[in-house]
Amino acid sequence: MPAVTSLHLEKFQESERRLTPQRRAVLKAFLELSQEHPTAEAIYRAARRHCPTVGMATVYRSLELFVQKGIIVKAPTLNGTARYEMNKIPHNHFVCLKCGRTYEFLIKQEPVVDRDIKKDGFEVISASMIFFGYCPACQE
Ligand SMILES: [Zn+2]
Ligand SMILES: [Zn+2]
Repeated sequence: MPAVTSLHLEKFQESERRLTPQRRAVLKAFLELSQEHPTAEAIYRAARRHCPTVGMATVYRSLELFVQKGIIVKAPTLNGTARYEMNKIPHNHFVCLKCGRTYEFLIKQEPVVDRDIKKDGFEVISASMIFFGYCPACQE
């Protein structure tokens, strides 16, 4: 799978210096798991290994802060459980209906903009697609 470029990696490093140990642990945990589009729960478990005093509330507050700063974004999911990923150039996602994993792919072809979107006066800045199906491992 081709790598998708991060948009705000330098922001990450900049903010890391000013963070409390708890927030830094959350950020570190997210960075370790970012390829997997982790849930808050998974980030919490990993963050506890770096800083045992991290609570679930801190994880949620930190993730919210990172989203506000544009460092991370919510990734599309199957069942509505929030998953997070690094804020990267727009890319397509494939969500596996069996294992729930999210895969990402570079956009080679811009999606066709729905005629109604233009007609109703919306200005499109970026677009991406989500594909649903079964990943290679789950087809066996
Ligand atoms: Zn799968
Ligand atoms: Zn993604």
